Amino acid sequence: MLLSVKDLSVYRGHIRVLNNLEFTVGEGEIVAVLGANGAGKSTLVGTLAGLYPPATGEIILQDRVVLTGKPPEFVVRAGISLVPEHRQLFGGLSVYDNLILGSYHRYRRDRKELPEALENVFCLFPALREKKNKPAQTLSGGLQQMLAIGRGLMADPRLLLLDEPSMGLAPLVVREIMTTLSHLRTKGHTIILVEQNARAALRIADRAWVLERGRIALSGSAAELLQDTRVQTVYLGNSRGWSRCNQTNG
Ligand code: ATP
Repeated sequence: MLLSVKDLSVYRGHIRVLNNLEFTVGEGEIVAVLGANGAGKSTLVGTLAGLYPPATGEIILQDRVVLTGKPPEFVVRAGISLVPEHRQLFGGLSVYDNLILGSYHRYRRDRKELPEALENVFCLFPALREKKNKPAQTLSGGLQQMLAIGRGLMADPRLLLLDEPSMGLAPLVVREIMTTLSHLRTKGHTIILVEQNARAALRIADRAWVLERGRIALSGSAAELLQDTRVQTVYLGNSRGWSRCNQTNG
């Protein structure tokens, strides 16, 4: 198992945001995390990335590396990289510098590998190559998201955590990003994908969890969740209310 999480509880301030979560993630999977605002999705990926210390539980990578309570610099070295909500790029720095910063922990040890890592990112997102020397803040929203993903990949992660990569982007760009994530899976990457855009996420995911008030309220294969009536109504907007209304009026 790539990641095993047991009995994970996390507080933000005085609020217990995650409640006794238990789950595993296998190598090469894409797991989507769905849920309403405030359900605890960002807290979950932030905790896995070492940003928030758990109150209880354990986080184990590859059955042996204990990540519980370890700081982000330890976690990123161990192989987990977070592409945060709102991207959090260094807007005044160039595309190139943002990417290099993603490889900060490898800079001394694996410096020779960085040109190849950069080339891989530019192959994945060719438009970034053309903007290599431009400040990140001058890029479109879609390119900024691609840059944030590229920066995450520069850390050479075993597990990539993405927090709402589709936020604020046009449908075509969302599709491009989701296709890229699918492609990354075929290259052996493992991904936890937090998304409000449930439809886009479930199209590429293998499995999904629905978080409600810090608990996994529902889990299953992406195909199962796509068929689930509650998921359809709450997260996919397949409400039948309108058709009933139309029938009544018609
Ligand atoms: P969203 O889709 O809005 O980002 P989310 O599912 O990612 O929602 P979180 O951001 O993890 O949810 O927030 C979960 C809960 O934690 C919310 O009730 C939120 O108000 C609370 N929370 C978040 N940050 C803090 C903080 N710094 N201090 C106290 N409570 C916080």
